Amino acid sequence: MTHYVCKGGCGGVSDEIGVCETDGCSSQWEMMEECDCTNGNHGVESGEESVNLVVKDSNGTVLNDGDDVVLIKDLPLRGSSKVYKRGTKVNGIKLTDNPEEVDCKVGGSGIVLRVEFLKKV
Ligand SMILES: [Zn+2]
Ligand SMILES: [Zn+2]
Repeated sequence: MTHYVCKGGCGGVSDEIGVCETDGCSSQWEMMEECDCTNGNHGVESGEESVNLVVKDSNGTVLNDGDDVVLIKDLPLRGSSKVYKRGTKVNGIKLTDNPEEVDCKVGGSGIVLRVEFLKKV
């Protein structure tokens, strides 16, 4: 059924055509837009905020949460003398907001690794 939505950010919805009357809305007193969605999303794709990140390893293989990877390079641990050796297997990586980095645990410590040094196994 047709309804009218405010696109000014107030989230206002009305069954009748009219203007937004919400104080502080950036579209206050502007006409609401006609919409006939049935899912309540008003034309906004659900999950729009969760940007679909594509994370790729050094070979261009897509990485997902929980993947196992190996290091393709000796990686010195910042702030310590420890080095993670090339060939070290890392189980169950976790993707981050940054497509160039993944969270993982190596030897019990949580570290962030750059995907360019990883290869999916
Ligand atoms: Zn509004
Ligand atoms: Zn709608």
